[in-house]
Amino acid sequence: MVAVLSIVLIAVLAYRFFYSSNKQTSDNNFFEAKEQQNKDKKEKKKETDKDTWKKYDDEIKFPILMYHHISEVVDGNTLFVPQKEFEEQMKSLHDAGYYTLSPEEAYRVLTKNEKPAEKIVWVTLDDGYVDNMKNAKPILDKLNMKATINIIFNMKDGVDKMTDDMLQEINKDKLISLESHTMDHIDLQYATPDTAKYQLEASKKGLDELLKQDTSVICYPSGRYNDSTPELAKNAGYKLGITTNPGLASASNGLYTLNRVRVAYGNNAQSFMNLIDQGQ
Ligand SMILES: [Zn+2]
Repeated sequence: MVAVLSIVLIAVLAYRFFYSSNKQTSDNNFFEAKEQQNKDKKEKKKETDKDTWKKYDDEIKFPILMYHHISEVVDGNTLFVPQKEFEEQMKSLHDAGYYTLSPEEAYRVLTKNEKPAEKIVWVTLDDGYVDNMKNAKPILDKLNMKATINIIFNMKDGVDKMTDDMLQEINKDKLISLESHTMDHIDLQYATPDTAKYQLEASKKGLDELLKQDTSVICYPSGRYNDSTPELAKNAGYKLGITTNPGLASASNGLYTLNRVRVAYGNNAQSFMNLIDQGQ
């Protein structure tokens, strides 16, 4: 009887010992798996920190803002937006969580249908006025917002437009991009193909050399172009062309005929944000 009981006891002890050591192993496996999972998550997080771009199913549409002078209005000219209004508008964008795009980022949005933030905007200023640096730049700096200035290559006079020296200095700034607005600001809609080709190619070459960059955007003077302009722009080496066609920009505009939102003077924060939402 005692012998039988002893055998049973030994069996029970042996079973418990075996079971608990087994459980230990499986616990270890569990913790190891958990640790691995956390490690994976951490690595993934690092990746997303590096690149927060997100792909979308629906075509991405976003405003490309068009400014000219940032200065007190002269003779009711709608090309002027006072510094105070510009500041209010940039602040509204900033406070609403808008991310300002560089030309390269705009190209990525339009070609890959992905964006770095829920709300995006591309701020452009045409003609290369000195007041852009005097009046707009301090505001962009303060809010850490990017903008693109479109330069007329043969009109860099230092009077109201920036000089070569100014442009070279500005180009070191990571918030500002300088792109082409042709050689002489002629109407490309009525230009002969040879003239248009020259205006597009020579201004790109000039900026490329002056600024040691690959100029990638052409801004058509007065936003005008004809059926052959997009092809000429592409052949000249540009990646994007921007117009004055009203509305939000999207890939379906065509990469060389992108809509822009004209900002004239006289907007308050509310009317400006409506403009941003609707594109016109
Ligand atoms: Zn212009």
